[in-house]
Parts: sequence; structure tokens; C-alpha cells
Amino acid sequence: MSSRVFINTECSQCGGSLNLEEGTNAVFCPYCGSSFLITGYDKVLSYYIPRNAEERRTAVQALSQRYLLTLTDHYRIAAVNLFYLPFYHLRGKIFQLVPDHQDDALVLHSADANRTQVKTKYLDKSFLATDLEGLKLYSLGVRTSVLQLKLFKKGTLRDKGNVYPVTLDIERALEIGLGKNHKTSADSCVLSRMLSIVYAPVWEVNVKGINRTFSIIIDALGETIIEDQAPFHFLTDHLTEGISSTFPTISFHALTCPNCGWDIPPDPKLYVFVCKNCHWVWECGVDGFRETRGAIATAPEEDELPQLTYFPFWIFPAQRENLRRQKGKTAIAKLFIPAFKVRDLSVIYRLATSFTNVQPELDLMPLSNDLPAAQVEGAVMKWEDARKLADLLVRNGTKKVHLLPQGKPSRQLVWLPFYEKGIYLRDALLHSGIQKAKIRPPNIPHLSPLTR
Ligand SMILES: [Zn+2]
Ligand SMILES: [Zn+2]
Repeated sequence: MSSRVFINTECSQCGGSLNLEEGTNAVFCPYCGSSFLITGYDKVLSYYIPRNAEERRTAVQALSQRYLLTLTDHYRIAAVNLFYLPFYHLRGKIFQLVPDHQDDALVLHSADANRTQVKTKYLDKSFLATDLEGLKLYSLGVRTSVLQLKLFKKGTLRDKGNVYPVTLDIERALEIGLGKNHKTSADSCVLSRMLSIVYAPVWEVNVKGINRTFSIIIDALGETIIEDQAPFHFLTDHLTEGISSTFPTISFHALTCPNCGWDIPPDPKLYVFVCKNCHWVWECGVDGFRETRGAIATAPEEDELPQLTYFPFWIFPAQRENLRRQKGKTAIAKLFIPAFKVRDLSVIYRLATSFTNVQPELDLMPLSNDLPAAQVEGAVMKWEDARKLADLLVRNGTKKVHLLPQGKPSRQLVWLPFYEKGIYLRDALLHSGIQKAKIRPPNIPHLSPLTR
């Protein structure tokens, strides 16, 4: 299980204390009643653990004293210093494609969706972000599943202790956390990736004896001895003047439609929001809302379908290898990546491969006033994550397609019609079934079939 990270911050409107889960794009302030769009998670944010380590100086001294009494020689504590060391904290969800080896003979015949399994696991790693050779402090000394943090600003901890600079760059941190080949892996990618820096307090207790001096290094959060015989002044001597770094922060924006000014409900799990008034589609951008092309695919008119629910998919333009060879001309295809919330990520893979294989003809309509306000729910998957999945499918070779370069304006989200039948949810275009239990359906009313 991955740890949950909460950012303790203030409402930009009234200064009220807000506890925001990291990655949440929308927040409601209970003090002033304002709603905000939160941006900035795309940057590497810096945090500290808001615990006053300094108050525990006496306890740390006592802990060291007890340790010294176990030694045969006589020692005394010369000085106790507090330091803040930066750690990279990398979190996310690993999406891995695993060939199903149960039936090898069949795999040879069809590199099909049914022959590949999806395995997922949480990624949660932390490691030192500064050069300190010889210190046995491999990860954050926090063992809780919930981490309460505050945003670190320049000078934040200066009066509390010596702050070590970050000397390991982001590229190197990703290599350590994800492996050297993380960008080109043909079988896995990391979704909802979040890389941040957490400053954690560490004590250096300098000890003098008759013939010998050394330092005891203590993790200030767990109050445990990390190194009992470190070189004297170990942390004091290794502290370097850091290159002055900048500390990006999260920003608050009004949660209103930039087109018509309508209030958008603060749904914390959404990444793409739809204005219920003008039906423009807004993605959470680097600095506020960014417009995204949105459309709804109509269900075939001839079919007598039960009530429909519309689920969003990111669409990526692609070229198809097979068709290109056969006809000697470029065949444009679409890569479909589901953007809605699912319980089981194998649903994403199943739907992405079946739609991409079949390439259904889409009869697109703008999201317009013809739709009652509640008919379209926003999406939870970031375009960047969908792009990673699209790249993974292409690299994995399952689909024999090549993605076309895509600029920002051409990002497209399409809502496809689905209907319920028994324990299955079936799409109205291919009629392929997904068990309802594998999907957490959006909380929207059922619709009557939308046709032109
Ligand atoms: Zn407020
Ligand atoms: Zn609007």
C-alpha cells in the first residue's frame, strides 16, 4: 500500500487551514465557502514535516547518554546539532503488461488482449537527495501510512537547524527510483507519478573521549540511532553551501469556467472538468484551466439499447502498420485510452486494445445544450498518463500502430456510450462487456439513448 500525503496549507482567500491530499485538483474551503482549482503538482514540490524536533533536544541527549553508558571507555557529549536532510519521495502506480504463459501455444497465434495480463502495484520510495557517502540513512524515517507535510519555502527551517542542499538532480532521482530504462520499457509504465522532496530532521551528537572522538547520528522522527560510531562532526563537516534552489509551490485558482464564468463543482478526484453551463471541457493545466477538445459519440440509431451512460476516453492519432502496407498509403487510426475511474486497471487495457483493434467509426457531436446538465461526467486520468499508456501499447507491439506527434491543441477527449446488461457494462459500439464490479461508475443518472 502506498502512503497518503496531505499538504497542510492555507486558503488563499481567507487564510483558513486546509488539509489537501497531494494530487487533488479541486478543493472546497469550509471556512469561506470558496472552491479552488489547485495546480503545481507537475513540478517537484518541496515539503517538511511540521514537527518541532528542537523541543526533543533533552530526550535526544538522554538517548545518547544511555548509549554511551554501554561503552567501556568514558565519553562525554560535546555538542548536539540539528540538521535537515532532503529526501526524494517517489510515488505512483506501476502498470505492467505480463504475457499469460498458461497457454504458450496460443500466444504464438494471437498476440491478443486476452493473452496479456495487467499487473499493478504501488510505487513508494524515498532516498537521500543530497550527497552524503557513508551515512546509513537510506529512506525517510517515517513509517506511517499517512504523511502530514507543509510546503517548504526558502528560509523555512533556517532558525531550527542546518538545512542540507539538494544535490541530486531530478533526472538522476527518476533513474534511481524507476530504473535506467524507465522511459523505454516495453512492458511497464508508472501512472500518477509524483516526485517530491521532503526535508527530515536528523541529530548529530558529537562525543569526546580520552583517546577518541566520534558522532552519533539520530533520526529525529523515530528517535532511533542510525549511526553509533560516525566520524566526528560528520554532518557538520559534510554540509556544503548549496546552489540556491527555487522551491515551486502549488497555486490556487478560481474554480469557474474561463469561458462563461459558471461555478464548477469542486470534485477532488477529477482531472478534466466539464462546464455544466456552456459545455466547454477544461483540463487541469500548469497554471489554471486549459481548454481540451471534447465530443460525445452517438450510439448507432438502429439499435434498441437500454439506457446509456457516457464514459470518457483520450484519443491519440496514430498510423496503422498493416493497412499502410496493404494499401501503400498512410492509414490514420485512433488509439483509445479510457480516462474514467476504474477499480481494476486491466479494464483500461482491455478497452484500449479492443477499441484500437476494431477502430469503430465515431459519429461525434459537440457537448452541447442538447444534453441535460448532468449527462457528462469529467475524467480522472491525466492526458500525460494516457499518453504513457498509449506509448506503452505501441512499444509493446500489441497494436501495430505508431503514434503521431501531437501538439497541445489537438488533445481530444471523447465520451463513448455504454449500457448495463446483467453484471456487465457494454459499450454501444462494439458491445464488448466489462464486469461492472471492475469499474467504479461515475455517479450520474442513466440516460436515454442519444441519437441524431
Ligand atoms: Zn477560505
Ligand atoms: Zn462555461
